Amino acid sequence: MTKTIIGSLLGAFVLFAASRPLAAETRDDGWVSLFDGATLNGWKASENKGSFSVRDGAIVAEKARSHLFYAGPVENAIFTDFELKVDVMTKPGSNGGIYFHTEFQKKGWPLKGFEAQVNNTHKNKNRTGSLFQMQNVVVKSAADNVWFTEHIIVEGKRIIVKIDGKTVVDWTEPDTPAAPKAHPGRIISSGTFALQAHDPGSTVYYKNIRVKPLPVIDFPLADLHVHLKGGLTLAQAIENSKKRGVKFGIAQNCGLNFPCRDDEGLREYLELLEGKPVYSAMQAEGREWLTMFSPEWMAKFDYIFTDSMTWTDDKGRRMRLWMPNEVHVDDEQQFMDMLVRKTVGILSSEPIDIYVNPTFLPRVIADKYDELWTKERMAKVIAAAVENDVAIEINARYKLPSIRFIKLAKKAGAKFSCGTNNGGKNLGTLEYSKRAIRECGLKEADFFKPRPSGNRAVDRWKARR
Ligand SMILES: [Zn+2]
Repeated sequence: MTKTIIGSLLGAFVLFAASRPLAAETRDDGWVSLFDGATLNGWKASENKGSFSVRDGAIVAEKARSHLFYAGPVENAIFTDFELKVDVMTKPGSNGGIYFHTEFQKKGWPLKGFEAQVNNTHKNKNRTGSLFQMQNVVVKSAADNVWFTEHIIVEGKRIIVKIDGKTVVDWTEPDTPAAPKAHPGRIISSGTFALQAHDPGSTVYYKNIRVKPLPVIDFPLADLHVHLKGGLTLAQAIENSKKRGVKFGIAQNCGLNFPCRDDEGLREYLELLEGKPVYSAMQAEGREWLTMFSPEWMAKFDYIFTDSMTWTDDKGRRMRLWMPNEVHVDDEQQFMDMLVRKTVGILSSEPIDIYVNPTFLPRVIADKYDELWTKERMAKVIAAAVENDVAIEINARYKLPSIRFIKLAKKAGAKFSCGTNNGGKNLGTLEYSKRAIRECGLKEADFFKPRPSGNRAVDRWKARR
C-alpha cells in the first residue's frame, strides 16, 4: 500500500484516537480486570454460595467448601494461554486456591484443570504457589496477614507460577500428558478460573484479579458490522467505539423489504454518518439489491458486504436461512451443495468487499456444522473469496466461521474482518473474533481495511460491466 492510501485510511482513525492514545482492547498492555472490586458480578459460586462475599474491595472466601467460577464476558470465560495475577491474603491456618482451565461444577473439588495453591500455614504441607499434585512446593514464599501477588502464566504446555515476582513453579506437561490417577482432569486445555473456599477454618482474600490473554493482540481492531438496532443511537455507538478504541463500521440494511430501498435511502444514510468517526457500510440484502441501487451511490460507502443467508433454491423457494419457517432442507447433502454453489455465486458476481455471517447454517442443521462443512466445501467458498478479493468476516455473534475454516482460509491467503452484527444495543467486545485471531495466529496484514474511493469492489465491478 502506498503512503497516500494509508494516510487517507487512517485519517479518521487518528482523529479520534488522538483523544485516547491507547486503544483499550488492543494497544494497552493487554490486562483486563475480572473483578469490579464491589460485587460478584461475572462470578458464579458452586455449593455453599454464602462462602463468598465482597469486603473492602476483596472477595472473601470463608466457611464451608465452595468454588467461585469466573462466568463473565471476558473471552467468554474461555482462556487458553494467558497470564493471571491475583492479590491474595490468608488468615493463619488457611487453605485456598486459584483454579484455571477449569469449568463450572455444582459441587466438590473442581475436576477439570489445575489449582495454583494458596496455603501459608495450613496443615497440608503444599505451600502457596504449588501446582497442586503436579509440582508441589514445600518452601514458604508468602506469609499470613500480608498481601502477596500470585501470578500464573500458561503458554502452550508450560505453566509458571510466581509469588511476588519470584518463580516457584516452572512445569511443562509431557508430550503424552500423564494426569495423576486421583486427578484425571489435570490436563492442559482451556477453561475458566475459580477461586476456592476450602473449609470453615480457612479465610482467604482475593482482589485485583486481572488477566492478560496471550498472545496479546497488538494491532487495532475494527468492528465493521455494527447496526443501529434495538435503540442503539449513533452517538452511543461512537461513545462505545471511543471507549474501547475499536473503530466501527455502521451498516444499513439495504434491499427488498429493508429500511433502505433506493438511492434516496442510501443518500440519507450517508448524510447521517457524514463527518462522524465511523465507516459507512452498506449491507446488501437478498439478491435483488443489485437492481435496486445505482453503482454511483453504492460506491460512496466505505465498503459493501452481504451474506449468503437469502437466496432462492432450485425449486424456486426464496429462503432466509435465519427464518425457520422459510427454510426447506429436503436433503442435507443437496442443501449444502446448493448453499456452497449460491455462496460461490454471490462472492464471484456481486460487488462486495466482505462476506459476512459466513457459513451460517439454518437452525435445523446447525448442530451438524462440522460434519456438513466438509473440507471440500470450505475450500470452494474460500477459493471464491480469495479469487474475488472478498474478505471473510469473523462474526462474534454467531461465532462463525469455525476456527477450522479460518485456519484453512488463512492458508489460502484470505483476508478477514471482525464483525458483531448486533440485533440490539449490546455489542459485546468481539470475543470470538479475538479468540480466532489468537488461535489462528492472525496478524494485522491478514485483515481487510476499507479502501479509498476508486478501489472498492463496486468500482472494479463497474469497470468490468
Ligand atoms: Zn447485519
